[in-house]
Amino acid sequence: MRMEVEKLNTPRSKLKSVSVKHTMTTLEAMIDMHGIVKTFKNAAGEFTALRGVDLTINRGEFVSIVGKSGSGKSTLLNMITGIDHPTKGRVIIGGTDIYTDVTESQRSRWRGRNLGIVFQFFQLLPMLTLLENVMLSMDFAEMYDFDERPERAMEMLKLVGLEKFANKLPVLVSTGQQQLAAIARALACDPPLLVADEPTGNLDSKSANTIIDLFEELSRRDKTIVMVTHDPSLTSRTTRNLIIADGLLVADSNQKSLIENRNS
Ligand code: ADP
Ligand code: MG
Repeated sequence: MRMEVEKLNTPRSKLKSVSVKHTMTTLEAMIDMHGIVKTFKNAAGEFTALRGVDLTINRGEFVSIVGKSGSGKSTLLNMITGIDHPTKGRVIIGGTDIYTDVTESQRSRWRGRNLGIVFQFFQLLPMLTLLENVMLSMDFAEMYDFDERPERAMEMLKLVGLEKFANKLPVLVSTGQQQLAAIARALACDPPLLVADEPTGNLDSKSANTIIDLFEELSRRDKTIVMVTHDPSLTSRTTRNLIIADGLLVADSNQKSLIENRNS
């Protein structure tokens, strides 16, 4: 796969940069979560999916979060992306407390400009071409001049090796290529942080490998990546591994004693 990751740093023409220039050695927090509790309430009663999560992820880290189905992985990611809100606790992303500094109505725009999100089932719009899907995220975030967006979208597709498929509908490419297009879309607004929820969960192992190769390359180029997976074999490729069980972080490769602390 041809990767042209340097193109990621295409300057924004009009808008003030929302990402901060940094180096891999800067130990600056990209994500800072304090005392996160999430309780769902419905007719059946209450269920606490996150029971007190404290987590700091620094810029440039490539982090895997592994846990069984139902352990709280997606709920945790939804706290980071602001798709859902915690019952208790604070989430600070790139210095912004996303639940107090950003209003509910500003949050989707904030998300579009600061985060790239990748899902297990890609979530491409089926009636739009791959190029149009990538352009759409710039439209939503109102990033880049209107006239620049097609060219920028094409650069993103080149980055993931899909330039030949730019004008195809998602259904006409493989599932691995659909996920690559979804990553191109996630990168379109040049976010410092990529969040991926089981990005390889629906892919064959070769396509999964291509996705992880791309993430590794992006991580080397200074993107912070948080990837949820139920595949422990992927953890050898990330710089830091976390394990979540029953709504608690129970292991952190940066902090070998987490389990002992929890149990003491
Ligand atoms: P994972 O992604 O690790 O499979 P989730 O974070 O999706 O797990 O879910 C964690 C737990 O919270 C599960 O028991 C799930 O049923 C519950 N849960 C998730 N979302 C909701 C919701 N909207 N309402 C009630 N319970 C939920
Ligand atoms: Mg999940």
